[in-house]
Amino acid sequence: MLNGKPIYFDNNATTAVAPEVLEAMLPFLQGEYGNPSSMYAFAGKSQQAVVTAHEQGATLLGCKPEELIFTSCGTESDSTAIYSALEANPDKKHFITTKVEHPAVLAMGQFLEQRGYRVTFLGVDGKGRLDMDELKSSISKDTALVSVMFANNETGNIYPIAEIGAICRERGVLFHTDAVQAVGKVKINLSELPVDYLALSGHKIHAPKGVGALYVRRGAPFRPFLRGGHQEHGRRAGTEAVPSIVGLGRAFELAASDFDAENARLRAMRDRLESRLISSIPDAIINGDPESRLSGTTNISFKFIEGEAILLMLDQWGICASSGSACTSGSLEPSHVLRALGVPFTFAHGSVRLSLGRYNTMEEVDFVAEKLQSVVGRLREISPYRHMTDEQVANEGSSCASASCAGGCGCSGN
Ligand SMILES: *Cc1c(COP(=O)(O)O)cnc(C)c1O
Repeated sequence: MLNGKPIYFDNNATTAVAPEVLEAMLPFLQGEYGNPSSMYAFAGKSQQAVVTAHEQGATLLGCKPEELIFTSCGTESDSTAIYSALEANPDKKHFITTKVEHPAVLAMGQFLEQRGYRVTFLGVDGKGRLDMDELKSSISKDTALVSVMFANNETGNIYPIAEIGAICRERGVLFHTDAVQAVGKVKINLSELPVDYLALSGHKIHAPKGVGALYVRRGAPFRPFLRGGHQEHGRRAGTEAVPSIVGLGRAFELAASDFDAENARLRAMRDRLESRLISSIPDAIINGDPESRLSGTTNISFKFIEGEAILLMLDQWGICASSGSACTSGSLEPSHVLRALGVPFTFAHGSVRLSLGRYNTMEEVDFVAEKLQSVVGRLREISPYRHMTDEQVANEGSSCASASCAGGCGCSGN
């Protein structure tokens, strides 16, 4: 704890609701409870609020208000986009995605494989970068959809979405991007970006949990995932979650209001954190692509120790962070993302993700750097691995109880 508060360095897992967002939501949790579909004047405020939220999203993303559909979360947006593209192309049985996707897309790929689809999971290099030639040669006449995340939740890597979209468009293949980690952190102008579908989530950008949105380019095929009433122009049935949608609209506006300043502030904090850690702790490496990363994310591996142990010890100081392991229950299996990067076993086990956000301060950065240095030192003193090779450690490590959980058990799958 610092100044009586936990130090929250896990903003890629979820974020605090911004006070501005809460303030915008409150009337719709109190007196303004009308159903937007109702005809009487009392419901007009709710109706108008949903319209406004569409406009706020369109302003941030450079699209048309009617190209956005509000959903219940990022996962629903991803599922809807993939379902739409496949339903619209029933004769095409090939889906291309990557090995480093969030479970919201990865698990869908695995499910489609069981359903008889051919699924290509593109690999990445040691920095987590995709090979554009591999993508090009994977696309065939049978490919219905390509889905590549905009920014990775574990490493913070930003993928070349404009380039990937252009490749897909040239080949006449639909393209979806999971932009849950990118929206509000990376400049996105959908009027210029060759993207057919884009998924985002409220709780990663200071709106509440349980609301998301899906961009569907005008003219891109769409099939509703939920069937029922005519909400969201008949594209997403179910009474609109008006308070949450209002909150997400306000969060869009907030992100747009101080975009450059906030990005620079996050970058300065992240860079200081990394340089303090790297200079004071031997055998530490930064995972991901330093040339193309989210400004608030760092993923660091400390040789010979375990991420879970680091997290438990940080927790005693009130520091919240994530590890790079796929399962919490005594497993030594590194996350699917770090495995895809080929991070050596002795390093991958000791991986920690620190993700900064709007409410973090430089004082907290210094506090975490200091505590992490002492935690790593203490754990190394008692590490049974410190004299072992990568191979020996790999043989020691029992597999995760469900190797296919893809982080679905909740530890770093967020
Ligand atoms: C958090 C996250 C999701 C899932 O969003 P939910 O709103 O929690 O369903 C999907 N993709 C990425 C990259 C994420 O970080």
